[in-house]
Amino acid sequence: MQLVHTIVETRDTIAAARSRGLSVGFVPTMGALHAGHVSLVEAARARDGFVVVSIFVNPTQFGPQEDLAQYPRTLEADVERCEAAGVDLILAPSVQEMYPEGFATTVHVAGVMEGLEGEFRPGHFDGVATVVAKLLGIVQPDRAYSGLKDYQQLAVVRRLAVDLNLPVEVVGCPTLREPDGLALSSRNRYLSAEERAQAPALYRALQAGAEALRGGGSGQEAAARAKESLASAPRFRVQYLETVDPETLAPHPQAGLPAVLVAAAHLGETRLIDNLIVE
Ligand code: AMP
Repeated sequence: MQLVHTIVETRDTIAAARSRGLSVGFVPTMGALHAGHVSLVEAARARDGFVVVSIFVNPTQFGPQEDLAQYPRTLEADVERCEAAGVDLILAPSVQEMYPEGFATTVHVAGVMEGLEGEFRPGHFDGVATVVAKLLGIVQPDRAYSGLKDYQQLAVVRRLAVDLNLPVEVVGCPTLREPDGLALSSRNRYLSAEERAQAPALYRALQAGAEALRGGGSGQEAAARAKESLASAPRFRVQYLETVDPETLAPHPQAGLPAVLVAAAHLGETRLIDNLIVE
């Protein structure tokens, strides 16, 4: 496995792999890697001969009041995890390498990025879309692997790949969870013991909503049921908890499947997101 910090080295290493006839799978991350990230690497290894992971805490996707400075940076442990998972190349660029002087382009994906996260994290998806477009331009993978955990982000990445005619297949991968249901996230390490004990209530709430939908309830009823369930964990402050269309992410107030329950809530200072696809 190789660890590089520059775009030039990344391109050279990938060109060498391609000349050996290998397809390239790519997993973009912000590091602080956990088993969820490793599951994306495994999905990549199952289909591609050469697996690239990027580790970059992208400053442009954090709002001014958000956790950019505190975001966990654990490069040494990340490198070990990648090595053990069979990653071939890690790109860990500096901010300067990604955004050199004169950088002036923003990728804005309209529509799908507007509600939900887009409402509560203004500018977030512009940052995500821009860095993902850049990383796809650098790595030029055959396939990019993204977690369904970040459901709206996956929709944004799919849209930008289609709209910009990027020759990449975007592969959505299932959310890995702790045994008690909490979705794995780099931010879970912020939780105090007491908060951690309440954290699975978010997934339980989504499951309660899903049950309502499966029982023929409307999207609106399902969201109400989920909110009711989450009220049992009083430390949660909900930003949104809604039923949306799986493709457009537009509100899905009526009955009928498939639908996705999506939620964001603060637990103490920590912001958690999760979702549940109901087929
Ligand atoms: P991040 O490092 O948080 O930017 O996440 C990098 C990638 O890992 C994204 O595609 C996420 O959707 C994915 N990911 C994060 N958490 C999980 C999880 N619990 N299960 C599966 N994939 C995940």
